[in-house]
Amino acid sequence: MRHDARFSVLLIAVLLLPGRVTAQEKQRVSDKQLQKLSDDLVTEVESLQKLTQVMVDKIFSFSELGFQEIETSKYLVGLLRQNGFEVKEGIAGMPTAWWATWGSGKPVIAFGSDIDGIPKSNQKPAVAWHEALIEGAPGHGEGHNSGQAVNVTAALALKKVMEREGIPGTLVLWPGVAEELVGAKAWFVRDGYFKDVDIVLFTHVGNNLGVSWGGGDGTGLVSTEFLFEGESAHGAGAPWRGRSALDAVELMDVGWNFRREHLRPLQRSHYVISDGGDQPNVVPQNAAVWYYFREMDYDNIKRNYDIGVKMSEAAAMMTDTKVTHRILGTAWPRHFSKPVAEAMQRNIEKVGLPTWTAEDQMLARAVQRVVGGDTTGLAMKLVRVGSPPEQPQSGGSDDIGDISWNVPTVTLRFPSNIPELPGHNWSNAIAMATPIAHKGATAGAKVMAMSALELFAKPALVQQAWDYFRNVQTKDQHYIPFITANDPPATWLNKDIMERFRSELRKYYYDETRFGSLLEQLGITYPTLRKTATSDANDRTSR
Ligand SMILES: [Zn+2]
Repeated sequence: MRHDARFSVLLIAVLLLPGRVTAQEKQRVSDKQLQKLSDDLVTEVESLQKLTQVMVDKIFSFSELGFQEIETSKYLVGLLRQNGFEVKEGIAGMPTAWWATWGSGKPVIAFGSDIDGIPKSNQKPAVAWHEALIEGAPGHGEGHNSGQAVNVTAALALKKVMEREGIPGTLVLWPGVAEELVGAKAWFVRDGYFKDVDIVLFTHVGNNLGVSWGGGDGTGLVSTEFLFEGESAHGAGAPWRGRSALDAVELMDVGWNFRREHLRPLQRSHYVISDGGDQPNVVPQNAAVWYYFREMDYDNIKRNYDIGVKMSEAAAMMTDTKVTHRILGTAWPRHFSKPVAEAMQRNIEKVGLPTWTAEDQMLARAVQRVVGGDTTGLAMKLVRVGSPPEQPQSGGSDDIGDISWNVPTVTLRFPSNIPELPGHNWSNAIAMATPIAHKGATAGAKVMAMSALELFAKPALVQQAWDYFRNVQTKDQHYIPFITANDPPATWLNKDIMERFRSELRKYYYDETRFGSLLEQLGITYPTLRKTATSDANDRTSR
């Protein structure tokens, strides 16, 4: 009797959980049939290789920065609508963000990948030295032009197989807008986009085919701009009547740089002066400095953020200026789902790495030489999914972290780039519109499609992912967002830069109706390498 009552309470609790797959529903497709359908997906993805190449090359040629991914989103939204997806545009107050759905019912599997570029990383693809198409323009020096090609290819293959076999479920595609500013995903979460999603399969360019689970290396962060306001005056005629907002910025930076020594070694913090005043003879009335405060966990990020705010107030006090601050971006440290990562790893092993040609390897080694990396060439062996590191290392962040603390999530890394590169650099753009990127995206699409099919077919796998999420991942740690309902997305960022370069960039937009590839359109030989060792040495010194 007592047992029954407890069961009822449990049942009610389970029923009250909003919109998740909860019951132990039986497998929808037999293991044998699943194997066959997986093979069909591989064939489908291969038949879509041309489209994959077009997507990779086109988005590369748009070269758009965060929040200004106008052409990229217009192109992807059009493509998805043509293929039967329903698309809602401008989600979460971001003109370039969208939410594309196809299918119906449970589970809801959402594919995400970033779409924005890196300032000043414009680079001719396949050319093994630093040479921009447009000097100083943005480019894909992170490789975010390839992830949506993986997702859309996988989605189209899946849709075909699911339609044919009558497999129910909902597929969602969404873009990582402004990932380089960690400016969107926490806002998507805040505005409720992930509340009915069962599993998120995220994908990001890498130099191997791999997935991980648990905490891993890397940081989370708060990106904050401090805006100081003083009083202008003639810089020579009456400087004593002025209160320099730039003085406050500089004092804050000096303070932070002294404090650095007394912060945990795993922290990373960096800043740019986003407004340094107008001209020297006018005491700067306004000035602003933009910080990234990175740490390994929420409490430590919060602590350093609070120190930063205090220091800004102290700098304002020293200079008799006023200060306010606003959050421009935020990312939680990532945590990925063990059951989903392990299922994905089995598919990674089935797919394996692409077959690289001698040309692919020559380009890779030449680029590695130019930037002073080990000349290991392209990856030839898969990395294995292991346990999370016991002592995670510091490093970069990705706002997929915010989603991973709300829905079971994994990130698939696919081999579209060259190992041993510095990151956020022109050299990271070289492979990104070449056969290396195209083949890497095809391999990634196979794994994405197969892994999603498995989730659609096996409710038990979705259930295991939620068990891990509830009983392991969030047992002692709960998501606390850094943003409130009042923090708008920073959609004004990068507007000026894109306005400056867009008409120049437009001349090189890839036209797939006239050219077999962007390389062909640009008249670039694959690969383009220096003839002599001396010029390689010159490349290195010219960095
Ligand atoms: Zn990235």
